[in-house]
Amino acid sequence: MKNVDIVIIGAGPAGIGCAVEAKLKNKKVVLLEKSNTICQTLIQFYKDGKRVDKAYKGCEGTNYSHIPFEDGTKESTIQTLDTALKEHNITAELSSEVESVKKENGVFKVSTTKGEYNCKNIIIAIGRMGKPNKPDYKLPSSLNKNINFNANSVQGNEKILVIGGGNSAAEYAVDLASSNQVSLCYRKKEFTRLNDINLKDINDAAHSGTILLKLGVDIDGVEDENGKARVQFNDGTYELYDRLIYAIGGSTPLDFLQKCGIEVDDKGVPVMDTNKQSNVEGIFIAGDIGTKNGASIVTGLNDAVTILKVL
Ligand SMILES: Cc1cc2nc3c(=O)[nH]c(=O)nc-3n(C[C@H](O)[C@H](O)[C@H](O)COP(=O)(O)OP(=O)(O)OC[C@H]3O[C@@H](n4cnc5c(N)ncnc54)[C@H](O)[C@@H]3O)c2cc1C
Repeated sequence: MKNVDIVIIGAGPAGIGCAVEAKLKNKKVVLLEKSNTICQTLIQFYKDGKRVDKAYKGCEGTNYSHIPFEDGTKESTIQTLDTALKEHNITAELSSEVESVKKENGVFKVSTTKGEYNCKNIIIAIGRMGKPNKPDYKLPSSLNKNINFNANSVQGNEKILVIGGGNSAAEYAVDLASSNQVSLCYRKKEFTRLNDINLKDINDAAHSGTILLKLGVDIDGVEDENGKARVQFNDGTYELYDRLIYAIGGSTPLDFLQKCGIEVDDKGVPVMDTNKQSNVEGIFIAGDIGTKNGASIVTGLNDAVTILKVL
């Protein structure tokens, strides 16, 4: 368990900007990045050699931050951000996906796949490009509407199979079981990654028969049978479901915000004050995740300046 002033989640332009502005105010920070590199969005979605504009798609063109970002290319932009981290002695904690955020007695406890941090403030700068993990086998495209990666599309009175053994899978299953017929399939024989509350809830639901647990069973494939998902299990059995919900890691930005208790408006944009503080006191929002359709690098850098003025 490490104690820091600020945990910054996401090492894209906004998160890096926040880390630099925080260091300049002598704050003790940790910069957490779920992938194995900084600037994952730029690396994954920008073509090599792409021109990067400072004034992008009608966004603010003046950069008020201490990172000297100018018009350039994909490569020069990543280099500028990487150099800024090095100059301020900041090392991003790579492959550190945040699993949970809890607040106890005014202190946040941030748990990642690699460790835990106590802090007074959190800045969420995870962009809008998060993606849930998908299974190895092919999913029929004709069932796209019935095969989901969150529980937002459930109508009620459905026969649902939730797939996964983590906290999200358990929470989906327990929540949905009040108005649906729910089974949960997990390839391991027992749950090893659940927090105490979810473990109790899922076991209670299984004992009362509200949820059917299929533990130690994997899925070999899924087919479309007259609009239903026909799931072939590796124990030789099969079953038809109205809906499948995969919760096998990865998360969408919206899921992440909800997990932190952050309210979003009807467009999925977090509710914030003028300092970019969310409805959860002490949690701030920087960069694309604070917008409906994404913004720009300068927007993320300037958000960092706004937030660090009040921290
Ligand atoms: C094709 C394309 C071209 C563009 N061209 C330009 C341009 O020319 N000029 C310009 O200014 N802007 C451009 N943009 C927009 C710009 O890339 C974004 O506005 C900017 O990347 C947003 O920065 P961010 O830090 O908010 O989010 P991101 O860059 O998306 O960074 C978020 C980071 O958080 C990490 N992350 C996500 N979830 C978690 C988690 N749970 N835990 C830890 N880490 C997490 C991600 O891996 C990522 O590294 C372009 C965008 C695209 C897609």
